[in-house]
Amino acid sequence: MSEIEKQALRIGVFLCHCGTNIAGILDMKQLGEFASHLPGVVQMAENLYTCSEPGQQEIVKLIRENNLNRVMVVACTPKLHEVTFRKCVIEAGLNPFLLEMVNVREQLTWVHSQEPQLALEKAKDTLAAAVARANLLEPLEYIRVPVTKKALVVGGGIAGLTASLDLAEAGVDTILVERKPSLGGRMAQLCKTFPTMDCPI
Ligand code: SF4
Repeated sequence: MSEIEKQALRIGVFLCHCGTNIAGILDMKQLGEFASHLPGVVQMAENLYTCSEPGQQEIVKLIRENNLNRVMVVACTPKLHEVTFRKCVIEAGLNPFLLEMVNVREQLTWVHSQEPQLALEKAKDTLAAAVARANLLEPLEYIRVPVTKKALVVGGGIAGLTASLDLAEAGVDTILVERKPSLGGRMAQLCKTFPTMDCPI
């Protein structure tokens, strides 16, 4: 167990308004109040645009000032800004995998814009689950592993043949496996193919 896992949880929650994208639907005051009472949460902050430079710097500052050991950014999809916030966490001296992003935009306000009260209840449940998960976050390290540049393609129909040829052209050692005695699959059953009208075999 690492040193940080032995410490008591000190979670910082950063609620992003995303202008009106999130705050226009969710009652941020109620959500913030709920978040601040979740187990292990010692810091709660709200921001109009958390991915802005001031928003990012506030995360770094509050991690340092409050000795946070887990960070939860409640905002948009991690696909968009997980890398951004991991950089903040690294800048503050924490392992980047101690960050948890909670998507309350694409998976919440954008799909429940007509039901703000239900959206708020869902947001609370999502936050509570994320805090429970934050308990289990471990500091991880990137590793490099050797990869054998070899591929196995199963099925010698048109898709398998094309994939095998593409892989071989890309310099990948490719093995094609077909259970029937001949290649071609359905393609081989056709008498002519568009646009040349040639026999496919
Ligand atoms: S972090 Fe995501 S949700 Fe927040 S302002 Fe940036 S894009 Fe919007």
